[in-house]
Amino acid sequence: MTEETKAATHFGEDVFGEEAISTYLSKDTAKKLQATISEGKPLDPSIAGEVAHGIRHWAMDRRATHYTHWFLPMTGASAEKHDSFLELKDGEPIMQFSGKNLIVGEPDASSFPSGGIRSTFEARGYTAWDPTSPAFIKRHSNGATLCIPTAFCAYTGESLDKKTPLLRSMQALDKSLKRLMRLFGWGEAHTGCTLGAEQEYFLVDKEYWKKRPDLVLTGRTLFGAPSAKGQQLEDHYFGTIPERVLSFMNDVERELWKLGIPAKTRHNEVAPAQFELAPQFEELNLASDHNMLVMDVLRTVADRHGFKCLLHEKPYAGVNGSGKHNNWSVAYGGRNLLDPGTNPQENALFLTMLCAVIEAVDKHADLLRASVAGAGNDHRLGANEAPPAVISIYIGDQLVGVLDRLESGNVAKSDDGGAMKIGVDTMPVIPKDATDRNRTSPFAFTGNKFEFRAPGSSVCCSGPMAVLNTIVAEAVDRIAGELEAADVAGKAKPGEHTVAFHDALQRILASSLKAHKRVVFNGNGYEPEWPKEAARRGLPNAPDTPSALAALANPSNAELFERYGVMTRRELESRHEILLEEYAKKVRIEGVCARDIAREMIFPAAKAEYLESVDAFAKAEKLGIGSGTAALRESVEELGAGLDGLKAALREIEAALAGDDDTATLVAMRKLREAADSLETRVAAERWPLPKYRDMLFLY
Ligand code: ADP
Ligand code: MG
Repeated sequence: MTEETKAATHFGEDVFGEEAISTYLSKDTAKKLQATISEGKPLDPSIAGEVAHGIRHWAMDRRATHYTHWFLPMTGASAEKHDSFLELKDGEPIMQFSGKNLIVGEPDASSFPSGGIRSTFEARGYTAWDPTSPAFIKRHSNGATLCIPTAFCAYTGESLDKKTPLLRSMQALDKSLKRLMRLFGWGEAHTGCTLGAEQEYFLVDKEYWKKRPDLVLTGRTLFGAPSAKGQQLEDHYFGTIPERVLSFMNDVERELWKLGIPAKTRHNEVAPAQFELAPQFEELNLASDHNMLVMDVLRTVADRHGFKCLLHEKPYAGVNGSGKHNNWSVAYGGRNLLDPGTNPQENALFLTMLCAVIEAVDKHADLLRASVAGAGNDHRLGANEAPPAVISIYIGDQLVGVLDRLESGNVAKSDDGGAMKIGVDTMPVIPKDATDRNRTSPFAFTGNKFEFRAPGSSVCCSGPMAVLNTIVAEAVDRIAGELEAADVAGKAKPGEHTVAFHDALQRILASSLKAHKRVVFNGNGYEPEWPKEAARRGLPNAPDTPSALAALANPSNAELFERYGVMTRRELESRHEILLEEYAKKVRIEGVCARDIAREMIFPAAKAEYLESVDAFAKAEKLGIGSGTAALRESVEELGAGLDGLKAALREIEAALAGDDDTATLVAMRKLREAADSLETRVAAERWPLPKYRDMLFLY
């Protein structure tokens, strides 16, 4: 890093990366640690002591007095339990951090959801350092904490977190790709998955937030009449960023850069008060950890700026919700396999990967859908601005043309005028810039990567990415198996394949396409026609979380995860249980919160308004005033009807909550909201107890 860059960004200052390693460790130990990191191997115990010593000194130079194993339990949030370096030795206080403390932790975190994997008598959980994600410093106003990214598992070794399956899925994909790339005549190389996670979020003034128990307790507004102006004019999108927000963004980015997170893009999103932050893509596991930190930093910095950062998928009804676009790609030996390439050989590899992804997504659309399921995302998927709950792939018309030719065997000759290379005439040529934009697809090919857009803004990337890696590993593995069976690969030389190889590949990919191209959809995913068309194609459409999560109970899916060593049956079952429970709890919290707000805030406000109108009407009548009495009577009637409606809806939600029925609760919440929102427009603004959409949505 140049001095100029360092001064401007302080990039990586709070990360125990290359520079810190060479400064704080001996040459020999630094080398061993670097090898561990680049090969993704466990730490050599013989150097753990020195590494721990070095990390502690590095951390203390940054005012850290505590350390924590930082991990990703199944709650979906990151977790930390701090211990100080301080120890008493023979009555003397010393600062200490051992190799053992670095490598494993025993947070005894028995209150995290385990879905039956741990019974309380053996409740111990263990955290183990993941050296591929570097240690970092979390600063706060008067100190700092050393954070060590770790995997979290039970005494039995079963994973209790979101990181472990991701790491295992990367291994699975690596294994499959090695098999395929051997057939393509490549030497053994490193598989690198990459992720660029675009993060959408809302900001709201903290003063408003404090007055909205729904935002405080559930992260979204359960009530609120629409603002006259919302996003109709599309004047917020990419608009000038308000000064107050820009200053917040600057602070966020400075903190992220210090943490080695390459925050790159910032802009206003479509809904008023909605924004996006996108980092440059990184290695998948690191990028996934980094996204957790991005959410953390957004929340803490917002607080300092008098905002609250809303990461909920749908904080406001009637305007856009927030997603987290997962841009994913996979490289082998440094070459991006989703880059179409410039010559027919590269094209062939690209087409193989493209077909593998299409096959994977079609076969396991149910798992991808399950990986993005959650109470919050239910309000976003299928709503008017988000990809529908049907999983389909967008690849653009030009690539569809290429795939059609591939499938039919009717391949255009290379048209560059040059000599035809041997064998390439069975594979179609790919035009340059073969994609355009389609913002309505949940899974889009965007030039040299896939963009999975269905994940919600609050999700931990590891879940959807672990599923994607696993299903692609399976498809790649299957295609490689067929190629092996065709026995044509031995004749392929690097960079040049035989006619037989291309013939076999063309045949294999064509039959895969025939079976799976139904999942390709280039049209407008927001059109009401699409779900019907999708149904005709036999594509699954799970509209809500419980139906989406059912995929996790499917034995063939358990078998898939087991076969690729990503999750055992028990680990999958535990996740199913945890996620269902989380959903039910969230719906219940929302239901109770809505009931309380309606009873304690909205009903009393409407009653006061009603009484005032009744009084005014009675007075006017008594005094025999002619004008105004009709208007007052009308408003008494309207408010009275509104109160009756609210009371009826309250009775319904009370019954639903008593029955503990999620679907009934959701239906009752909708009705309660309708009744309350219509009252909101009839009660004096100064009397309305909740900040209004028109106030919260516009930031100055
Ligand atoms: P858009 O909003 O048009 O989708 P952005 O530029 O905001 O595009 O975001 C694209 C994201 O994709 C960025 O995070 C970028 O770094 C990432 N990206 C680009 N190439 C790759 C790749 N090969 N693998 C993974 N992510 C990538
Ligand atoms: Mg995008």
